[in-house]
Amino acid sequence: MTLAGIGYDCHRLQEGRRLVIGGVEIPSERGLEGHSDADVLTHAVIDALLGAAGMGDIGEHFPDTDERWRGADSIVLLASVVEMLSREGLQIVNVDSTVLIEEPKLSPHRQAIRLRLAHALGVPPQRVNVKASTGERIGFVGRGEGVGALATASLKGSD
Ligand code: MG
Repeated sequence: MTLAGIGYDCHRLQEGRRLVIGGVEIPSERGLEGHSDADVLTHAVIDALLGAAGMGDIGEHFPDTDERWRGADSIVLLASVVEMLSREGLQIVNVDSTVLIEEPKLSPHRQAIRLRLAHALGVPPQRVNVKASTGERIGFVGRGEGVGALATASLKGSD
């Protein structure tokens, strides 16, 4: 049995914050605002995995009203979701993703992001794909107001 899930997230860009995407800190004047490290891509991947598993969403498991998750490293949250899936006998087949970002360019960091996510997911890097798209200077992405991310995940069940 194969299970598919989708995830979406967005965060605002703000001065004085770190820009963390897929567990990799990217040099930038502005970073993402949020309760945790605001790692928009990792959040979308978490939702795709939870979606495929039929296990709700990130807000349910890691509420932003919970002080435990303030400034949290989202890769740690991802690792805990991977652990939950494995307890359910679910195996990750692949993850695909697109980051919607105007600047900085993501291409120099794509391989590092892929490796970081693959390590957290416990799958070979070729099972994780990271794409990037600009907002063509329109919408919240194009105006540089925020960064979005989309992800899909596919899981293999035991039955
Ligand atoms: Mg988020």
